Formats: sequence, C-alpha cells, structure tokens
Amino acid sequence: MMKPIRVLIAKPGLDGHDRGALIIAQALRDHGMEVIYTGLRQSAIQIARAAVQEDVDVIGLSSLSGAHKSLFPKVMTALKEQGADDIPVIGGGVIPAEDIPFLEEAGVAKIFTSGSPTKDIAVFIEKLVRKETLEPPKKIAHIGIAVKSIEDALPFYQNSLGLPLKGVEEVETEQVRVAFLKIGETMLELLEPLQDTSPIHTFLEKRGEGIHHIAFEVEDIEERLAQYKSQGIRLIHEEPKTGAHDSQIAFLHPKAANGVLVELCQPKE
Ligand code: ZN
Repeated sequence: MMKPIRVLIAKPGLDGHDRGALIIAQALRDHGMEVIYTGLRQSAIQIARAAVQEDVDVIGLSSLSGAHKSLFPKVMTALKEQGADDIPVIGGGVIPAEDIPFLEEAGVAKIFTSGSPTKDIAVFIEKLVRKETLEPPKKIAHIGIAVKSIEDALPFYQNSLGLPLKGVEEVETEQVRVAFLKIGETMLELLEPLQDTSPIHTFLEKRGEGIHHIAFEVEDIEERLAQYKSQGIRLIHEEPKTGAHDSQIAFLHPKAANGVLVELCQPKE
C-alpha cells in the first residue's frame, strides 16, 4: 500500500473562524489522508516551519478574512526561505474568483472557491501529490452547430464568411453527416442528422437549429474520463468512441458544464 498523503491545513492571519478548515480536514481524513491542523492565527513563518517539521506532501491554506492576497504570498515566501518551496500549496475559504489569477501566479497550485465539493479537493490533492494532475484542454477543437441540411447552411459559412470547407464525412456512431469549416486554429462542425434516431434529429426537434456542443481537444481522454467519473461529474460516455477523422471522443452531460454539452476530442496521432 502507498503511504498516506500528509496534509497541513493552516489558517494564516487573524480571522477567528475555523469551521470550514475543520470540515476540509475531516473530509481529507475520510479520504485516507493524514491531516495536521495548525490551529488559528498562524504566521506565515509558523506555517512554513510546521510544514517542514511535519514533512507534509501538501499545504492547504484557508482564509475567510479577505486578506488572502497578502497572506498567501507571504506563506509562499516563507516556504522559499525554509527551502521548502517544493511543497505544493492549495487555498480555499472565502476567495472571490477575481483574486484567483493573482494567487495562482504567486505560486498557489489551485484555489478552490466556496462551492467546491470536498471530494474535488481530495481528488486534486491525490493527483497533485502523485504528479498526475491533468493538463488543461489544449484548445477548442471545434464548435458543433446543428443544421437541417449542410447544403442549405453552407452558403452563409462558406460564401458569406468565406471559411474554407475542409471536408464532409459521415459519423456512424452518431448517425450524422458532418462538415468541417476551418476558422483560425479551430473548426466549425455543421451537423446534419442521417436518421430520425440521431441525437441531432432529437435536438433539432426540441430546440431547432443552433449551437449544439463545444469540443475541447485533450491528450488524455481515458484518464480524464476516469478522473471525472471518480469526481462524480456526470458523463454521457464513460469510454471514448470513434468520432470524425478517427478521433476518440466522449460527451459530458450538459449538467456538468452549466448547460453546455461538452465533447472531449483526442485527435488521431
Ligand atoms: Zn463534435
């Protein structure tokens, strides 16, 4: 068995509430991690020393006071002074989304907003420590647009916009005919149903023509699906299947992405 991951949960600064930090600590213990909690009102240097003494794999900082923009970078500096800046730091608490880019640029590996399920945090820590964190998707592979007829749709996209048509093919698994138009680094994918049983036919019946899905290009579709499944993210396909251009594709449930149907797309090597 692998040795348990050791996590230091620390509360820098002066705020006097640690209910959130204690909930996270317990949730991580429930995931089999060893959690050391520093207690309230720790200075950056105390936190860095505790991390070294306790030989932890990761540090979780919690802040509710609104002072995270000064406190978290101070902890990063203190870690560097202790020669312990190889210990990854994550943060949470009451942190507005506006502050996340600043904190991640300051070296915090990930900020979890107050809506983050504790399970996500546990999964992220496991991947971080085992150095298996997923790379973000590379780019938007294409945007899928449901149309009744590719021939009827092409005049606007191909002539008025002037986008080059790169190919038309049938994708049996989805019972669709697809036309790809190149736009910069990405593509528009016009989708026409081949049969009444096609998901695109159902979409057209319910919603009419329009944007159907966004496809993200990834390099790790199988690991990604497995990780999303373990995080409880709703998937339409748990295993990749073959899409256009012999790529490997899988769809996530729109509930996973704020109502957007997301496709993961791994191009053929
Ligand atoms: Zn697609």
